[in-house]
Amino acid sequence: MTVAKELAQSGVSALLIERDPSLGGLAASFCCKASESCNKCFACVADKRVLEIRNGPSISILTQTELTGLKGGPGAYNVSLKNGKGRMDIDVSAIVIAAGVDPFDASLKAEYGYGRYKNVITARDLDEMLRLRGKLFCPSDGRLPKTVAFFQCVGSRDESIGNLYCSQVCCAYALRLIKAIRYQYPETKAAFLYMDIQPAGASFDQFLNSCRQDKGIRLIRSLPSKVYHSPLSDGLRVRFVDPLKGEVAEEPFDLIVLSVGLVLRKDSKSLARLFNLNFNEEGFFAPPPAQTGVFITGACSGPKDIDRSIIHAKSIACTVQQYLKGRS
Ligand code: SF4
Ligand code: SF4
Repeated sequence: MTVAKELAQSGVSALLIERDPSLGGLAASFCCKASESCNKCFACVADKRVLEIRNGPSISILTQTELTGLKGGPGAYNVSLKNGKGRMDIDVSAIVIAAGVDPFDASLKAEYGYGRYKNVITARDLDEMLRLRGKLFCPSDGRLPKTVAFFQCVGSRDESIGNLYCSQVCCAYALRLIKAIRYQYPETKAAFLYMDIQPAGASFDQFLNSCRQDKGIRLIRSLPSKVYHSPLSDGLRVRFVDPLKGEVAEEPFDLIVLSVGLVLRKDSKSLARLFNLNFNEEGFFAPPPAQTGVFITGACSGPKDIDRSIIHAKSIACTVQQYLKGRS
């Protein structure tokens, strides 16, 4: 959306092709994570961008539309599309791929019980709960959780599932969710179980300090090894190494939130085949040479939050403009 907006502003006609019914991808599904003040999660920026694009006159949009074929070459591609209204072929000078990312499938970390225990949810589920239901609750019985544990690096920096990279976004989004929860439900205490904290943005240190100063937030440098579940009470116990005592500890929590990392969308392989794209060592799209006229933007080129995706998109828009100028 940002690339299309930037190009349209410089007089290039842009067409947005979206497979889903609505624009914005994952970024348009996040809740506001403000507490006493804005916590700079950029969710509202993504929402605003969708409205700008929808209401702006200069960008054509095709939703629920799939790419089915590609012909031609640099500067003169012919793209085949399919949607509910039929098939069409469109001539374009350049193509920008913004395939987006999926949250890691948390059920692959079987020891945490996602998909088996109702009160183990992902941060994505929590975002949806707060955005769509407007309140925090335990899925098992609807009560407000008194204790919430956030497990970091779920699906990232983890040899056992083959993802060694840091997903960049999950420390910041988890801490922002904790801040928002603590503000709205001061009686709810949170624990943040982590390996390292990945900074995000200019004022992150200040934000992190405010988390450290809150007595209702514990930052525990230890990743849990297992979640135990009582089928009678739906109670959860978490096993981890207590970093202060250096011994194994078990602690009950009402709700567990798995801070899942980012992976390339499952169905991106077909795009890679269509555009002859390569992957980088983390499994995301590697940028093709600029002279091909095919560009990659956003988190499908590697994990990025909304802010960094927008910055990346603006620089890609400049590259596309230079490419188009070079061919005219
Ligand atoms: S916390 Fe996020 S969604 Fe809420 S106002 Fe701030 S940037 Fe916008
Ligand atoms: S951002 Fe934080 S939680 Fe996410 S992978 Fe990196 S270190 Fe782990």
